[in-house]
Amino acid sequence: MTFQTQEQYQFIESILFENLGHHPEVLDFQFFYGGNFNLAVKVKVAEGNYFIKWNQGDHEGMFESEARSLRVLRETGVLSIPEVINYGKILDKEYLMMEFLTAGFQQENYWQDFGQKLAKLHLHTNQNHGLDFNNYVGALRQSNEWMENGVAFFIEKRLKVQAGLALYDRKISPELYEKFQRLYEKLPSLIPNEKPALLHGDLWSGNVMTDNEGLVALVDPACYYGLREAELAFTTMFGGFNTVFYEAYHEVYPIENGFGDRIPLYNLYPLMVHVNLFGGGYLDAVEKILKKF
Ligand code: ADP
Repeated sequence: MTFQTQEQYQFIESILFENLGHHPEVLDFQFFYGGNFNLAVKVKVAEGNYFIKWNQGDHEGMFESEARSLRVLRETGVLSIPEVINYGKILDKEYLMMEFLTAGFQQENYWQDFGQKLAKLHLHTNQNHGLDFNNYVGALRQSNEWMENGVAFFIEKRLKVQAGLALYDRKISPELYEKFQRLYEKLPSLIPNEKPALLHGDLWSGNVMTDNEGLVALVDPACYYGLREAELAFTTMFGGFNTVFYEAYHEVYPIENGFGDRIPLYNLYPLMVHVNLFGGGYLDAVEKILKKF
């Protein structure tokens, strides 16, 4: 068992001391490199296995909002979400400590069960779209200020923010920004204004795991109450979700006709997040969608 640096060793030790109240013997640990900038370890001590993540950059409040998002989802009791032990700042770095998910053998009905559970999560509704705190999507801030109208929320708090950021950073041209403006006028007639649904908010296959019973567990949420079709659309962006999943979802909470045609519209949001985070590689797709609509 070797920690990469003495500094990281002290950091993990301090987190364990703060949260367990003593200096436990570290029986095992493993580094994880899942996301784009966070570092994470699995730490095994006598009390159990913990997953601790921290970031190198300056993302104030990121783990607080992730912890709160995890708790919002966990409180529904609909599906497995790791229990948050704590979050805080130690040695000038923010961290998040949670239960380590140990995957069991994936059950045969995994995807069917997942589809049903996601639909049940989406049936958790609210008066308005948004959330009572803001969070992050990747490394970007995501504003969840409440709004009554879901399509207006999607335009104001999602598309406009990302398009504005991209224009400011010169990642898109003023002409493309203008095309977004024209789309906003059309959007209310293109996508259904459904009830606010509790969303995971960053549902791609990298955040989908298996719990110890062999059923779905979700990590790394950016949750809010929003348009559920936006969440379903995002699951198709990088793939990995099979037809059984969508069928099972549809049986519990039927998807409105014409969803397939609307997918690109919803995916403008994650695409623009990717443009802002990783640059122009995703711009072609954005241009095509704007041209089409
Ligand atoms: P990032 O915020 O950097 O994207 P994630 O929270 O997605 O990091 O975690 C990175 C990877 O670590 C995930 O893809 C998953 O494989 C694994 N992971 C995340 N949370 C847990 C957990 N509680 N228990 C076990 N593995 C986890």
